[in-house]
Amino acid sequence: MLEILRRIVQEVNSAPDLDQALQIIVRRVRESVGVDVASVYLKDADRGKYVLSATEGLRKDAVGNVRFYLHEGLVGMVGEREEPVNIEDASTHPRYRFASETGEQRFHGFLGVPIIQHGKVLGVLVIRQKELRRFGDEEEAFLVTLAAQLAGAITHAGASGQIAHALQTPEAVTTAIQGIPGAPGVAIGQAMVVYPPANLEAIPDRVAADPGHEEQILLAAVAAVREDLRDYARRMSAVLPAEELALFDAWLLMLSGDSLVGETVERIRAGNWAQGALRETIGQHVRVFEAMEDSYLRERASDIRDLGRRIVTRLQSERSSARMVYPKTVLVGEEISAGQLAEVPLENLAGIVSASGSSSSHVAILAQALGVPAVMGVQDIPVGRLEGRQVIADGYRGSIYINPSALVREEFLLLQSQESELTEKLREISAQPSVTPDDVSIPLYLNIGLVSGVEAEVHSEGDGVGLYRTEVPFLMRENFPGEEEQMRIYRKALEAFAPRPVTLRTLDVGGDKMLPYFPVQEENPFLGWRGIRISLDHPEIFLTQMRAMLRASVGLNNLTVMLPMVSTVTELDIALTLINQARGELIEEGEQVLRPPIGIMIEVPSAVYQTGAMAKRVDFFSIGTNDLTQYLLAVDRNNSRVASLYQTLHPAVLSAIRQVVSEAHRLGKPVSVCGEMAGDPAAALALLGLDIDSLSMSVSNIARVKWVIRSFARSEARDLLEQALQLEEPRAIREMYNNVLEQGGLGGLVRAGN
Ligand code: PEP
Ligand code: MG
Repeated sequence: MLEILRRIVQEVNSAPDLDQALQIIVRRVRESVGVDVASVYLKDADRGKYVLSATEGLRKDAVGNVRFYLHEGLVGMVGEREEPVNIEDASTHPRYRFASETGEQRFHGFLGVPIIQHGKVLGVLVIRQKELRRFGDEEEAFLVTLAAQLAGAITHAGASGQIAHALQTPEAVTTAIQGIPGAPGVAIGQAMVVYPPANLEAIPDRVAADPGHEEQILLAAVAAVREDLRDYARRMSAVLPAEELALFDAWLLMLSGDSLVGETVERIRAGNWAQGALRETIGQHVRVFEAMEDSYLRERASDIRDLGRRIVTRLQSERSSARMVYPKTVLVGEEISAGQLAEVPLENLAGIVSASGSSSSHVAILAQALGVPAVMGVQDIPVGRLEGRQVIADGYRGSIYINPSALVREEFLLLQSQESELTEKLREISAQPSVTPDDVSIPLYLNIGLVSGVEAEVHSEGDGVGLYRTEVPFLMRENFPGEEEQMRIYRKALEAFAPRPVTLRTLDVGGDKMLPYFPVQEENPFLGWRGIRISLDHPEIFLTQMRAMLRASVGLNNLTVMLPMVSTVTELDIALTLINQARGELIEEGEQVLRPPIGIMIEVPSAVYQTGAMAKRVDFFSIGTNDLTQYLLAVDRNNSRVASLYQTLHPAVLSAIRQVVSEAHRLGKPVSVCGEMAGDPAAALALLGLDIDSLSMSVSNIARVKWVIRSFARSEARDLLEQALQLEEPRAIREMYNNVLEQGGLGGLVRAGN
């Protein structure tokens, strides 16, 4: 059964559109269960009906014509109950509705299972038998398992089909594809697809400017790979047995025949560039092999994939620098790295669309820092087919449009012009102090460090730096940077903002930030070796960084040090001892180093409950709500599947912050917030009510948040918070704050967000 399941799911996954996917499902289900009829009814939510969308066994002309209201018939009953309905004689059941178009009066046995994704019923899978038949437990279990696995494939096939239609019918699309808001703003531009090197699946189709040249470089790449393979075979002949060496011969054979190379050449002649043509050919062969009965032959699919990767690596090394940048580029990718982002000049970067990730992924944070709209977690887009397409990315609602209709474009152009008005308004605010109407000053600091290069433009903004993520100098190298090098980097930041304070956070790698030269393999990296845990296990790295920070501040004395991911007081004590040691050494060496203010980030729940003990040891706190939210709610900040559960305005998050602030204030220590929440206008209003002392955010959010601070008195924000905490649901809290902003004339700041 498992094998049958696997094969059906695989076939459905590679179906080009929804109709074919459904057809495969009904055919395979009827065959494998041995029944008279297998049908799929899909929900048409707009019309409130289930529509017969594919069948084997009923009349084909009934497809599209047989419809049940959502609560009608046995199909409606399956959808309503959201569980299997198994009936020996359907025709006598009180919920049974006869549909004459199907010619189905002859059937008695009925088993229907719902097809559900992310808690929503997409449709119903039904099998029928002429005779009276109560389907067995195993059959029921089989269909339930199949339906659960197919839900994703059906959504995907539906989206691909819809997009394929959009690609063929220019200017046709009025419906949005849903993702997650990543960074606010609206981008209208052309898709530039980015893909990791040698990731065959993610290579886009592209029109070949010079097919002759494409053919030539393909053949050269194939020849080079053949040469490599011969080389490997020669080298390996001493160590590998003959059977294993035969593999190389098989590969060479594949590359010499007409199939792989010949078909790719044909595709190039039909207009695709070499890499796109290769992806298509390899994909097709892989599918053929994967569908084979014989498990040995099935395994050969991975050989073909491997060959494809080898050729494409060669092709890419030919042209890595020749990337096309559009005047308004929307970067689109399965996953977008900081490096890829940096390849596009900022003035051309209109927006970002990522098939994976969520609003708190580092790419989204980067986009916010750059003020570039971003949509994350758009799972159902065929990335490879989007190069050069017109795209609208709505970073407020987290949706995208491919080949939008003229009407949709107009709507978004209007939104963009409203945005520019808002920007004008924000520019006025920029020069004014961050003070509430009841005269409470809330310093607004900057989060910097993720993007090198933007700093020059932001030096004049903000009251200093509340979070400098020092990971970047570490990420951009091939080994740990030395003390001198780090010192120079930190000194630059300290000088740029002096005399305003600059908070340097010690190394926070691990989780989703891996150093290429310090690989850590873990099952659960976010609960693993990250942040201060790595620093304390490697005092040599930590001491070097501390010495560099302390030396950078000599004469400027605007350094503040912050420790990430602290979860116990022991960690804090050890870190403080090491900081003292570094300072002692420097003083002995004759440096004039002062003791900087030292604080910790509160981003682990255990630290929330130990604020009192920590407060005795540090000078300040900064709440890292990105991590605190993920750890409090047990929701991975990068997982788009659970992104709707990632809610910073969750009552638990607000209560945790309240607890930290009250404990810290009791002991006279200030509290800041430096997670993305601080830059979200509605959340900033909540934080004002939570008695936060300062906020730290991306430069692009400073003016927005300042507008909030200047519009609401602390006392008013406190009252609002009391009301918010009466509400038990995050969405209700978000809605309440959005309404308050609207009523206060700050509607332009309202975000969809969680
Ligand atoms: C946080 O966790 O809120 C934070 C600011 O740190 P980072 O996003 O770098 O993990
Ligand atoms: Mg963090």
